Amino acid sequence: MSDPLERYSRQMRFGGLGEEGQRRICDSRVTICGCGALGTVLANHLARAGVGFIRVVDRDFIETHNLQRQILFDETDVASNLPKAEAAARKMRLINSQITVEAVVTDIDHTNIIDLVSDVDLILDGTDNFETRYLINDAAVKLGKPWIFGGVIGSEGQSMTILPGKTPCLRCVVEDSPPPGMTPTCETAGVLGPAVSTIASFEAMEALKILSGKMDALNRDLIMVDLWSWSFRQLKISGLLGKVDCPSCQRREFDWLDGRMGSHTTTLCGRNAVQIATRRSDKLNFAELAAKLGTIGEVRHNAFMLRFETEGHEFTVFPDGRAIIKGTNDIAKAKTLYAQYLGS
Ligand SMILES: [Zn+2]
Repeated sequence: MSDPLERYSRQMRFGGLGEEGQRRICDSRVTICGCGALGTVLANHLARAGVGFIRVVDRDFIETHNLQRQILFDETDVASNLPKAEAAARKMRLINSQITVEAVVTDIDHTNIIDLVSDVDLILDGTDNFETRYLINDAAVKLGKPWIFGGVIGSEGQSMTILPGKTPCLRCVVEDSPPPGMTPTCETAGVLGPAVSTIASFEAMEALKILSGKMDALNRDLIMVDLWSWSFRQLKISGLLGKVDCPSCQRREFDWLDGRMGSHTTTLCGRNAVQIATRRSDKLNFAELAAKLGTIGEVRHNAFMLRFETEGHEFTVFPDGRAIIKGTNDIAKAKTLYAQYLGS
């Protein structure tokens, strides 16, 4: 039998890690929240590096305009109507059969985040919105688990590593997110693949340090880069710890985790789409639903989602009852459409 560590020989040869570091990586567990641009790069790096258990959580399906930067996906995934988490997990298992990958197709919210992260060593940010990041921050601070923030827009990106109690948390640095519509999004400002890969690679490198136990090597600054204008900045933030009256890590008021902040039904960041996040206890029966909806036109479904178009809107429905309705940014209108076609 060949040595299972052999495939990591070039990684182990790096003095900072060594064989002991690799063994710890192989025994470690992570949750990647969001599997779009950042998440696919994270998933790719960590699967190849041999992280023993990787949970990939994402609420969305794959569209052709994702392929420019979401490196684990290809045109066959779009044609197969696969959710991102499922498509990513399939690729990761092909990349590395020695690891365990769990795909979770869901919207991360205050009711499920603890279950999604309590059994892992590290949480990684592959999301595209501050609402989910504050929720991750609350959960990580409450559980005392490290997490790594990353965000990208256009050619710019930021990243920071949060060790609860040892470094400032996200809310120490950015106390409140700007209101929706006030910040550029990937849809309004665009986003370039190399910027995404760079930030996700920063996150992945920090992850390898944490998982291998090399805490001294961690970056403790807020990293800000712009690959177009070629600027790299490191903002010293360590002095903020305990100096700001942070609701999360100082007062331990978990506004997002306790559900006081945040909403389930959201417009999806400039995509002309609304997510209706109803959650049912029983799974939808897609065959029955398709038969019922059949009168309005073609209804397609597989094990993961059901899709139909009507009145100029495309509905994508997930087994737990959640739906993404394209063709509107109006939450009230989307709720009406949902009630009309899917019941309340
Ligand atoms: Zn804080």
